[in-house]
Amino acid sequence: MLNKEPLTNGQFDYKIYPVICECGLVYLNPRWDKNTYSEFYTENYDELYRLDDKEDYGVEGITMHMKEVYGRCCNLIDTSDMKNIIDIGSGSGYGFDFLRKKTSCKIFCN
Ligand SMILES: [Zn+2]
Repeated sequence: MLNKEPLTNGQFDYKIYPVICECGLVYLNPRWDKNTYSEFYTENYDELYRLDDKEDYGVEGITMHMKEVYGRCCNLIDTSDMKNIIDIGSGSGYGFDFLRKKTSCKIFCN
């Protein structure tokens, strides 16, 4: 939820419900079940998230998206003691260039 509305803007109107916990953990709630994840990664993932290859999105679009996500987190959590950023399922990883320039945190991804 963002501003008490399901978060859809910026990700192609694909409805997901991310939650930003006060500890900084961002996760989907409700979580998808195994079959939903399997279907998503088989049917939708490449179209929605293989963005670096898209002429109308590309690395610049990925950077702008990471900037938006990082901004949301910084607005909701205390980042003054933040030392690490972990992204499970970080796609192409291009968003980390933005984070490396923006923070001195250690950044982990897979
Ligand atoms: Zn938490």
